Order: sequence, then structure tokens, then C-alpha cells
Amino acid sequence: MTKFIQGKVVEQRRWTERLLSLKVEADSIAFEAGQFTRLALPVEGEMLARAYSFVNAPQERPYEFYYNIVPEGPLTRRLAGLEAGDAVWLAPRAAGFLVLSEVPDAENLWLLATGTGIAPFLSILESEAAWRRYPRIVLVEAVRHAGELAYREEIARLKREHEGRLVAVVFVSREQAPGALAGRIPQAILDGRLEAAAGAALSAAGSQVMVCGNPAMVTDSVHALAQRGMKKHRRRSPGHITVENYW
Ligand code: FAD
Repeated sequence: MTKFIQGKVVEQRRWTERLLSLKVEADSIAFEAGQFTRLALPVEGEMLARAYSFVNAPQERPYEFYYNIVPEGPLTRRLAGLEAGDAVWLAPRAAGFLVLSEVPDAENLWLLATGTGIAPFLSILESEAAWRRYPRIVLVEAVRHAGELAYREEIARLKREHEGRLVAVVFVSREQAPGALAGRIPQAILDGRLEAAAGAALSAAGSQVMVCGNPAMVTDSVHALAQRGMKKHRRRSPGHITVENYW
């Protein structure tokens, strides 16, 4: 059985009614940008645990996690009730392969996320390796409503720090929003709208793609990218796509 370490909530930031970020102080957990740990709370004598990607860079503290309340979900509604000073438990070891050490070099690094799937990419964008190895990075975030676009200030700062090298594209599916593309990421890969918006070529020759979040978006994006000659990257069989499903 996993032994959890006890942490303390430093801040609960509420972006919308259902989207929150939890900042936690705890003993050191070593991780690579893009990895996750498990957060846990005691429920009826047992630890109820779920995986959450680190938003913070490995060298930054406190730990930060970005999550949404799933109404029928057992953990998220409890997490949302936590306040500064409350206890929360963390698995002491990080895990996950959505990390740059598993991704080959390329001209363009594409980071495709739905909703809270942007969390590991925020950590990756703070890493030195991202900017040393990829001349251009395209961050693509898809949400339903414009109000769900979190971390805009952080992304604007990253764009300033890496002038001309970070392109941010947003999709808003359920309403019209200025500056946002309509529809879904996979369709925009197929019809060329994503490349046009990013001003970069999404080709097997020059791209690596990391995909995170809703499993339907992940699967459909992998299929759309296959039409461009791209396939999943494996250590023994190099390719172009690295994915993480949140459920
Ligand atoms: P659960 O019983 O876990 O899930 C109930 C149902 O809710 C699922 O069957 C699914 O249909 C849906 N669901 C699960 N996760 C989400 C989600 N994020 N958005 C919308 N619907 C969802 N979630 C985060 O919010 N942020 C993260 O950084 C994050 N990182 C993850 C990393 C990994 C490797 C994995 C496997 C999952 C990650 N998740 C993340 C999902 C997270 O572990 C929980 O499943 C989620 O927070 C819901 O927990 P729950 O106990 O309330 O409901």
C-alpha cells in the first residue's frame, strides 16, 4: 500500500465555479516536468487517491495542481472544500511519461490539451529543456466556454520571455469568443485550421506532438495526426506523438 505524505494547503484558487488550483506545501517530491503524483484524502477510514499533474516547475514550490470538480466524482468535490491550512496527502513518488525526456527533438513542439490537461504543459513550458531543444512551441488549449481559459497571465509572461517562439492557440466550443477558434482540435488538424492559426507546419518531418486530457480528444487527435504520417512515439519505434489520458 502507498504511504502518503501529509501536506498543507497554502491556497485554493477558484477560476470558475468548477475550476480550481490547489497549492500545497509538503516534503520534497522529485519529478520531471509533465509528471503527476496522487493527491489523497481520508474517506471512511481509507485513503481516496487520484492522479494530478504538477503545474509548477520541478524546482518551484509550493506544489500546484489544476483540477475541475466532477459533480459525481468522489475526490474532486472533497478537494474543492479544502481551505488554506487544511491537510491533504500526496504520494511521495511522481510518475508518468508525458515528459520531454521521452520526446525526440523537432523544429516544432505541439502541446495539445483539453481543459485541465494543460497542467503538465505549464510545467514543461517552465523547463529549460523545452526552450533549449525546440525552436518553436505551439500551446493549444480547448475549453467549452471562454471563462474556462485559466493561466492566461502565465502564458502571456511565457510569450514575453520567449519572444516569437511560443504560439498560443485556443479553442472555445460552446460559444463564440474573440480570438478563439471554434470546434474541436482533431477537426482543426484535419482541415488545416490549426496550422493556419499557429502559423507553423504540423508535419511528420518537423513536429513532435504531446496530447493530454479528455480521452476522446486524445484518440481523435492521434487519428487525425496519422493522416499526416505521424504515429505514437515509442522508445523502440520512434514516432511523433506522446499522450496522456486523464480518464
Ligand atoms: P473520478 O471517479 O476519478 O472520475 C469520474 C469521472 O469523471 C470519470 O470517469 C470521467 O468521466 C470524468 N473525469 C475524470 N477526470 C476528469 C477531468 N479532469 N475533467 C473532466 N472529467 C473528468 N484531473 C485534473 O483535473 N487535473 C489533472 O492534472 C489531472 N491529472 C491526471 C493525470 C493522470 C495520469 C490521470 C490518469 C488522471 C488525471 N486527472 C487529472 C484525473 C483525476 O485523476 C481524477 O480522475 C479527476 O480529478 C476526477 O476525480 P473524482 O474522484 O472526482 O472522479
